[in-house]
Amino acid sequence: MNTRQMRYGPLPVERVDVAVIGGGVVGAAVARALSAYELSVALVEARADVGDGTSKANTAILHTGFDAKPGTLESRLVRRGCELLADYATKTGIPVERTGAVLVAWTEEELAALPGLAAKAAENGYERCEIVDAEEVYRQVPALAPGALGGLTVPDESIICPWTTTLAFATEALSRGAYLLLNTRVEGVEPPSGTADTVLRTSRGTLRAGWVVNAAGLGSDVIDGLFGHKRFTVTPRRGELFVFDKLARPMVNRIVLPVPSSRGKGVLVSPTIYGNIMLGPTAEDRDDRTDTSTSEDGFAFLLEKGRKLMPALLEEEVTASYAGLRAATEHGDYQVFLDAGQRYLVLGGIRSTGLTSAMAVAEHALGLLGEAGLRLDAKATLPDPPRMPNIGEAFPRPYERADLIAEDPAYGTAVCFCERVTEGEIRDALASPIPPADIDGLRRRTRALMGRCQGFFCGAEVEKRLCAGVAREHGENGDTEKTGEAQ
Ligand SMILES: Cc1cc2nc3c(=O)[nH]c(=O)nc-3n(C[C@H](O)[C@H](O)[C@H](O)COP(=O)(O)OP(=O)(O)OC[C@H]3O[C@@H](n4cnc5c(N)ncnc54)[C@H](O)[C@@H]3O)c2cc1C
Repeated sequence: MNTRQMRYGPLPVERVDVAVIGGGVVGAAVARALSAYELSVALVEARADVGDGTSKANTAILHTGFDAKPGTLESRLVRRGCELLADYATKTGIPVERTGAVLVAWTEEELAALPGLAAKAAENGYERCEIVDAEEVYRQVPALAPGALGGLTVPDESIICPWTTTLAFATEALSRGAYLLLNTRVEGVEPPSGTADTVLRTSRGTLRAGWVVNAAGLGSDVIDGLFGHKRFTVTPRRGELFVFDKLARPMVNRIVLPVPSSRGKGVLVSPTIYGNIMLGPTAEDRDDRTDTSTSEDGFAFLLEKGRKLMPALLEEEVTASYAGLRAATEHGDYQVFLDAGQRYLVLGGIRSTGLTSAMAVAEHALGLLGEAGLRLDAKATLPDPPRMPNIGEAFPRPYERADLIAEDPAYGTAVCFCERVTEGEIRDALASPIPPADIDGLRRRTRALMGRCQGFFCGAEVEKRLCAGVAREHGENGDTEKTGEAQ
């Protein structure tokens, strides 16, 4: 498949052994795992890029699972997913930093809840939480507002790059031979009868599949309905966040958590892997599954929370705000069901922890599919995992590497000055196995335009380079050598 067929024109394949619907972090992880076996696999995504739904707009924490509900599937998969992703990140260069977290008690009631939370963590298999007094809390987070009574430390909570994670999974799936079908919305399903294939009617034509995995996130209940089920309803739960300027970064060097409530994990303050500080998220049930706009009410709520938690933070500049939609359901756990007769698996209701759990969800999915009769013969050889470009602050970026610049001066030529993104990185992203489809996709691959000027200074230059790259993907200049066509 070339990059053009990835996004445009008729589908490059008529039938696959397994179709995975949804190219978010969960679907990409599943496609990656399946493509290690002698199977034809297609990752079918409605949008023009992978990781362009909920997977791009979250709090980006690699959770230990200390606060999950013990005994749930979510608890098990978050714990396992955390281990798997931490290891995979090291192999592939996904930016990750083990900052640790401190959960802060502000009232006597919250203070009294800490031993219970430590016991719950142990029940979830996480034994390293420690209850600390107020003095220790302020030693760890000096900028905290006055009034903290104590805390619980969680030394292994980490921050991670959610964008590189999904891209790494999809890139590896592709290198193992999977089809990546972007701009391909599943609009209708003819479930199988007997041994016949499932027929997926998509916006780019018909695709037949022996087995189907539904990882459609906010749309997973709709796809489940097309298979004739009514097991859960997704209610988008909006989470809004503020991103503070890099000058605020020295103020917080670990994740600062509230005591969780029945509504979720609550509003936190966290460093980001890109060197900023974030405050959020809110939690508000909505009707519209596509509305990721931010709101005046959300801003007011976050400002009030921020003022109570860390007033000094509010004196820093906010460089961006965004919102993501959790795929919440009426149930308290992931919604995973396998129908052996339909050769169909749904991975739904993966709401607040899917970035962490994705690799374990994929592992679990393979187990269920194998038990139901999907033949899993491991491929004799597999390509090495991809080495992803580093867009995090934990390791040297290209502009800091004299060796790289000496080899290729494009890594010494800045295009986006706020984020220090170089010509070489933009060129590489445009020629990568899954090139960006738009400016937002280029931002997710390089950090271009996500700095304090938000593209005011370099926007035109970055856009010019992107347009040239997209034109090459369309083959408009007929220059096949530079099209970056892979596979
Ligand atoms: C505010 C917020 C904060 C969060 N913080 C964290 C965190 O700190 N740590 C953590 O681990 N998790 C966190 N999460 C949760 C995490 O982001 C999600 O669990 C995860 O991204 C879900 O991935 P997914 O692949 O299931 O869904 P998505 O990323 O939404 O992917 C589903 C894909 O399916 C596609 N699709 C839908 N319908 C169709 C169709 N008919 N045909 C083809 N394609 C279709 C969509 O376009 C989409 O790309 C947070 C979520 C939010 C909203």
